[in-house]
Amino acid sequence: MSGAAVHAWIGLGANLGDARAALRAAVQRMDALPGTRVLQVSSLYRSAPVDAGGPDYLNAVACLQTSLEAPQLLRALQQIELDGGRQRPYLNAPRTLDLDVLLYGDERHDTPALTVPHPRMAERAFVLLPLSELAPEKTTAAQLAAVSHQRIERVAHACDWLQDKR
Ligand code: ADP
Ligand code: MG
Repeated sequence: MSGAAVHAWIGLGANLGDARAALRAAVQRMDALPGTRVLQVSSLYRSAPVDAGGPDYLNAVACLQTSLEAPQLLRALQQIELDGGRQRPYLNAPRTLDLDVLLYGDERHDTPALTVPHPRMAERAFVLLPLSELAPEKTTAAQLAAVSHQRIERVAHACDWLQDKR
């Protein structure tokens, strides 16, 4: 464990298998990471794949408080993806679990392995809507308007999907 605790915002997505169970398990796994607590989880959303085929996605955003440094956090999230059965056969392939670091405090990272703020978050309704639910100040009306044509619906409140009340 290292560093002072910061707030990190994580985008969760899945579109294969029991996606809701995969996202719920990922929230539990993130909460169990060293020096890390899940502070807030958004509603569950269903969205059309962007730049990809396959089934609709389920998406959510979580806010973590963590003392892991950003690269350590990403590695831990990638391990959770792998444990969830994630394979990467090709770019934008359907996935059982995708965990992206959207924001890490106010830090900026600019390497291919870790780019934060996430470079495509402002183009994606499935990130902006759940993020605006938890932290309206982190999105703008202009950003939300720009993605308003994307197909997305809210399917469950956080307290319901985290407890598997379908
Ligand atoms: P997607 O862009 O669809 O989420 P992947 O999950 O397969 O694609 O991630 C591809 C690569 O993106 C990973 O190897 C990872 O190192 C890199 N990456 C860069 N910045 C981030 C970030 N902020 N969050 C998650 N992965 C990132
Ligand atoms: Mg990813």
